[in-house]
Amino acid sequence: MKSSTRVRFAPSPTGFFHIGGARTALFNWLYARHSSGTFVLRIEDTDAQRDAPEFLDVILKGLRWLGLDWDEGPEKGGEYGPYFQSQRADIYKTYLQKLSAAGRSYEQDGAVFFKISGEPQTIHDIIRGDVIRQDEKDFVIVRSNGQPVFHFVNVVDDIAMQISHVIRGEDHLSNTSKHVELFRAFGVEPPVFAHIPLILKSQGSGKMSKRDTGALVEDYEAHHFLPEAVRNYLCLLGWSPKDDREILPIEEIIRLFELSGINKNNARFDEKKMHYFNTSYLHALAPEIFCKKGLEILRQAEWWESSIENDYAVAVLRICQEKLRSFGELPHFVSYFFQEDVFFDPATSAKYFRDGSCFDRIGEFKSAVAALETWTELDLENLVTRLSEEHGVRTGDYIHAVRWAVSGRSVGPGFYAMLRVLGQDRILKRLRSAETMDISV
Ligand code: GLU
Repeated sequence: MKSSTRVRFAPSPTGFFHIGGARTALFNWLYARHSSGTFVLRIEDTDAQRDAPEFLDVILKGLRWLGLDWDEGPEKGGEYGPYFQSQRADIYKTYLQKLSAAGRSYEQDGAVFFKISGEPQTIHDIIRGDVIRQDEKDFVIVRSNGQPVFHFVNVVDDIAMQISHVIRGEDHLSNTSKHVELFRAFGVEPPVFAHIPLILKSQGSGKMSKRDTGALVEDYEAHHFLPEAVRNYLCLLGWSPKDDREILPIEEIIRLFELSGINKNNARFDEKKMHYFNTSYLHALAPEIFCKKGLEILRQAEWWESSIENDYAVAVLRICQEKLRSFGELPHFVSYFFQEDVFFDPATSAKYFRDGSCFDRIGEFKSAVAALETWTELDLENLVTRLSEEHGVRTGDYIHAVRWAVSGRSVGPGFYAMLRVLGQDRILKRLRSAETMDISV
């Protein structure tokens, strides 16, 4: 059974989906789910010049990606909503008549003005306590071109949609006294407000803008972040579970989420932490899911070829999960498994192979590996141990030289797992060509 809690996310489509907006949507959604209420999505698109259909898509896509599902709205293609203000002109007309009948509006220069009471207005805000604000001037509610203004349609819809809690960014606090005036002029008790703190950029005191790195939801999707990780991180921008935990399942956040638990102070965006969350979620993925998603991403890599065998790609993915930091890095992280010509950065090669003894290690390893009859990780490990004893060098000397020779990298999945998956033929071929590598830089 649904409770009477009704909240809404009311974005104006602007062409991008800022994490500030996503966090507002998320807090509304969390509160709706926490209180078995209704989460309404309302597109505030009365500003015709600014609003284009593609501007809306980015928001809907972002909400879906974050798993923030909404509960009602006109049905279309088996799905509900959202509500569009541009389709609600009749409702605004009716409410305009109510104001005029109550003597609270007048026309001037073709525009319709709202007549304020001028009384101080108390805003009940769960996060900030009671805030008292007073307006001094009547304001336009319908422009001379007939377009209704934000303050008016926002309040009318909150009334018509029986919104019980308005959860929105603190930047709207300055509008709220106007809104409260309007609610009262309609004879309606205003909803409970929760003005959530701003998100500051990682450094300095400025508010995060759409130009700051990490500010756009669409970028996280494009860079293959895990939506659960981004969502978990966003939950903590202004809210916390009151213990030391930060990474926790969404069901638990829903259970714990209270508006009164939202912090009054501004939240600071921390890009490193977002990455850390993403890596933690990536490592915690079930291996089958990791492989399935990983395969989708690899198939889009510029070097992917249809001749690559599925089983081989899956074998590569299986050994990479615990070392990979993000799906965005995956194509580069594993490219040498799939590309025959390993790229060697000359400067790094020179650094690695400076004393030339690396070539001895590569040669010794190559001869031993050529004679190896079974190709398990244990065989390879035993082989390296034996070689290091025989030649009086550290096992690490083989590991570093060989990893570099066969992959052109100094980091990657576990060494023996990498060898196993690359296979004997590839390894021998690459060791042979590494022996002739020119390091004269
Ligand atoms: N359309 C407004 C915005 O995008 C909504 C404000 C509100 O949530 O009341 O900022």
